[in-house]
Amino acid sequence: MRLVMLGAPGAGKGSQAAKISKKFDIPHVSTGDILRSEIKKKTEYGIKAREYVENGKLVPDELIFDIIEDFIKSDTAKKGFLLDGFPRNIAQAERFTGMLERAGVDLDKVINIVVGNEEIIRRLALRRICKDCQQVSIFDEAQGDICGKCGGTLIIRRDDQEDVIRHRLEVYDKQTHPLVEYYREKGKIIDIDGTGTLEEVTERIMESL
Ligand code: AMP
Repeated sequence: MRLVMLGAPGAGKGSQAAKISKKFDIPHVSTGDILRSEIKKKTEYGIKAREYVENGKLVPDELIFDIIEDFIKSDTAKKGFLLDGFPRNIAQAERFTGMLERAGVDLDKVINIVVGNEEIIRRLALRRICKDCQQVSIFDEAQGDICGKCGGTLIIRRDDQEDVIRHRLEVYDKQTHPLVEYYREKGKIIDIDGTGTLEEVTERIMESL
């Protein structure tokens, strides 16, 4: 199964991707997670990407293709994959289509998680990430700023600050949202209502796959 997850920041792509990849036993590749990990480790790659990620801008396509090309050629990708956060603009999608054609494979479906902007802003303001294990969670008064997974400290992702969120939503509307039509024309899109509980959304995805 080869899947791509589309949706605005905060639509729940990462949480759903983790569940779906587990159910189908396929690797979940999040370009955002890879970039954050490289930034944390201060690798050369992370140093190049940092300013873009922290300001909610897309990193240059060349940097992203360094990750994706290696992955597609790897043995791990042979049993399928779920991409979360890639492609992010039409240029990436076109190059990716060519890459898949050369490899003699095709995407099965592109899951488009739909959530309104008001709800997105509300969700992102409550989103926290663990400084230590990078687990993402939703702020809960009782839990405070302690990570439920490893006991580390929960922080607000720098790019989840309100001004950066607004910029990321603009970037999504201008650059990423056109991919919905790109993939709809190829007959790949499944539109999923992203409101409700995590489990409800997972069930909708599973039913339509
Ligand atoms: P995400 O976790 O998917 O919201 O990604 C966080 C940030 O990583 C984005 O705001 C971009 O700065 C960067 N990023 C992730 N994936 C891509 C991509 N495919 N192309 C360009 N930038 C990306």
